[in-house]
Amino acid sequence: MNQISAMGDEQSLMSQQQKPHITVLSSPGMGHVTPLIELARRLIVDHGFQVTVLAITTDAPPAQVQLLNNPSLPSDLHVVHLPQVDVSSTDSGDGPAGVVPRLLYIVQETLRSLRSVLISLQRPLSRALIVDPFCIEALETATDLSIPTYLFLTGSASFLALTMYFPTIHAAQVGRDYSNIGDKVCIPGCKPLWLDDLVPELLIPQLLNLSNRVPVLKGVLVNTWEELEPVTLSAFKENPFFLRVPSPPTYPIGPLTKIDTEPVASTESNLLKWLEKQPPESVVYVSFGSGGTLSAEQMTELAFGLELSGKRFLWVARPPSQANASASFFETGCDDARDPASFLPDGFLDRTRELGVVTLSWAPQVAVLRHPSVAGFVTHCGWNSVLESIVHGVAMITWPLYAEQKMNATMLVDEGVAVRIKKLQVEQDGKRIAGRREIETAVRMVMEGEEGKRMRQRARELQSSAVSALSHDGLSSGCLTRLGNKWRDGGTV
Ligand code: UDP
Repeated sequence: MNQISAMGDEQSLMSQQQKPHITVLSSPGMGHVTPLIELARRLIVDHGFQVTVLAITTDAPPAQVQLLNNPSLPSDLHVVHLPQVDVSSTDSGDGPAGVVPRLLYIVQETLRSLRSVLISLQRPLSRALIVDPFCIEALETATDLSIPTYLFLTGSASFLALTMYFPTIHAAQVGRDYSNIGDKVCIPGCKPLWLDDLVPELLIPQLLNLSNRVPVLKGVLVNTWEELEPVTLSAFKENPFFLRVPSPPTYPIGPLTKIDTEPVASTESNLLKWLEKQPPESVVYVSFGSGGTLSAEQMTELAFGLELSGKRFLWVARPPSQANASASFFETGCDDARDPASFLPDGFLDRTRELGVVTLSWAPQVAVLRHPSVAGFVTHCGWNSVLESIVHGVAMITWPLYAEQKMNATMLVDEGVAVRIKKLQVEQDGKRIAGRREIETAVRMVMEGEEGKRMRQRARELQSSAVSALSHDGLSSGCLTRLGNKWRDGGTV
């Protein structure tokens, strides 16, 4: 892999001129950078492209820096660090407003340099710019420079359907109150969803922004595959709503998940050593994505729930945050010297010494999920975590925290690969939190019951459909090949 400055290293770029060139732009955060890097890797290794990854470096979490510095990335992957921006006037992201305002500010300010960077990279001409949802505003700059722009939707096809249908929902609401629409929303191609399960109110402007730009894109790549979302994917081609609204072609190219070649830090390798000592299918893995955090009361309930279940566990336990559920987003992968005993119930670590292991901040998630001793995953249902769990045949306990995770959770339960935790039992500060007995029941259901076996069986079926979608003549590979041919030769898809 080459690292080059924003102004470009002419010689390095010139030497690559023979290969067609694609540019990829991702907002900060592991949930977006990881699948875009995997897409870049496939374009290079399977389709002979060179790829420039434009990295937003302001506030980049340590785990992201490590991912982009990974020496095993292909040599035709060039990382261009976009200039840092001043964030001193913005909310730090660990307050009640959460990370989104800061994230959007960073992206918006950074994209001011996009035009000059794209111009400096135009040798050889970039055949396409692929952006993640938070970077959709790059569309205007790229279009001005005649670079065809594609969205890589790092979520599900259902989320794409919601994105395209959301202006219709929005037009029907009165005074920013969506309740007149009814309790359930029928998005074309999706099962009816509770209004509350769509996206948090905070994200609505961002969703509308995305919805309005989708029709202008050259295409949308989605990190899913036919067998996982057949109805929604067919709806894009057949449902009268999608045939009526202007919509670009959709390319299900997934599941693209992190490959297991990242360097593993020594604390992380200790976790894998611990897993080695556990019996097959005996461990539940507990993790809330790259930035998910729980309140102190919720952590206490979770700790007791795990203890009561009597099951073995590996828990990525971040220090609690009262303010918001994604408070660790900008610190993902930071070394944390805090003692987990300081925020876990008294004596919990001693009592569970033989049963479980707790780690602060970060675990090598893909290596954990693929380990034969892991059978269940308590997850916040971020789309990458969902895919990683399915492609390793692991059943899930859904614990959505933010973004479109409630939608993902509903889909996983409907799909028969997950059980839901209800947030009903304990009320503190007006917040509903999951009680220890509810957590215990869900963990037992996944880890020991017939239902758990059925869920793992279904996850394994989906796992093998994922393998076949990504095989040489699989549907997802075929989609990417058609796109690759189009970008390389100007062919049609
Ligand atoms: N991840 C990890 N170790 C952790 C927590 C997260 O490797 O301790 C990775 C996980 O494998 C996934 C990504 O971080 O690839 C999180 O993405 P996801 O979409 O699940 O959630 P987000 O962090 O975007 O909410």
